[in-house]
Amino acid sequence: MSKKDLYDVLSVSRNASEADIKKAYRRLAMKHHPDRNPDDTKAEESFKEAKEAYEVLSDERKRAAYDQFGHAGIETSASGGSGGGGAGFGAGANFSDIFGDVFGDIFGGARQSGSRASRGSDLRYNLELSLEDAVRGTTTKIKIPSYVPCKLCGGSGAKKGTSPTTCSTCGGHGQVRMQQGFFSLQQTCPKCQGKGTIITDPCKPCHGHGRIQESKTLSVKIPPGVDTGDRIRLSGEGEAGEMGGPRGDLYVQVSVRDHAIFTRDDNNLFCEVPINFITAAVGGELDVPTLDGRVRLKIPIETQTGRMFRMRGKGIKSVRGSIVGDLFCKVIVETPVNLTTKQKDLLREFDNTMTGASDHHSPRTHSWLGGVKKFFEDMKF
Ligand SMILES: [Zn+2]
Ligand SMILES: [Zn+2]
Repeated sequence: MSKKDLYDVLSVSRNASEADIKKAYRRLAMKHHPDRNPDDTKAEESFKEAKEAYEVLSDERKRAAYDQFGHAGIETSASGGSGGGGAGFGAGANFSDIFGDVFGDIFGGARQSGSRASRGSDLRYNLELSLEDAVRGTTTKIKIPSYVPCKLCGGSGAKKGTSPTTCSTCGGHGQVRMQQGFFSLQQTCPKCQGKGTIITDPCKPCHGHGRIQESKTLSVKIPPGVDTGDRIRLSGEGEAGEMGGPRGDLYVQVSVRDHAIFTRDDNNLFCEVPINFITAAVGGELDVPTLDGRVRLKIPIETQTGRMFRMRGKGIKSVRGSIVGDLFCKVIVETPVNLTTKQKDLLREFDNTMTGASDHHSPRTHSWLGGVKKFFEDMKF
């Protein structure tokens, strides 16, 4: 797939409706269709791009993944692995109910031919990562409880050597018609629950469901730059469907643990750096931490507390593009503690040298005092 922005390919905005996307695709498909542009490789390429963009953006789940992760989101894959363990398995949200089966329910018989085998549930796994792993990317092993197809019956649910029989109530359609006044209503068959078949002799290990619960270990590749709230979809790694139906998907929900030094805001990192008041006054250099090691930070003379230093490109590389954030170091001037009598005397002696107008050494104090004075004058006490 080309790496062009899919919204740009279709010339639609990022919040375009389904109808807008369909319209844009049809327009482009008509224009660039190979039948209309024989031997035109450029048109053929445009046609292919539009088709690929439409395939992603017309699928709500693929579109969401693309919005979150760009091309990486629709190409992420997982491979089986072993060992390791994972905690934090979350409730299995059934995304297929939200995105797919809603229409099947509304339109009744429209999906009857495919309704015998139900799609497996989607699973959600809550994965906690350290900031370092989230920034650099990692491969982690997770263990998830999951339904797998029953090996003994091959997913049919019927005892080995037998096969499910056609439901006599609905004749295998999974739906029955009921006459109610003028209306003819279609309903899911109550006898077979829409499957169209009845298992008279169920398979023992799976109790006739065609699937068994097992835990499996997956190796999940986390792309560099992910943040709390990001979701990685592993297509087909959810639960096995009943009666050999398609597998659901696994969604790995990322949350990043708090870090001892850095806080993160999007692609930028923030940290506080305490400095003593002498360095703040006369300037100096100190080492500050970054995720790639130490960096020398120059403190200019007369640095005030709270001053922010920006270190370009020392933040986080975005998971969605090539943007790299910055590191912001906020210096905090620390008042010295546990001073000896001698040290206190030296400071008092130093203070005595601070003669002249207060705006000379302490302009902020000076203007503040001026402001306070004016405040009381305006109050006319
Ligand atoms: Zn079985
Ligand atoms: Zn039936």
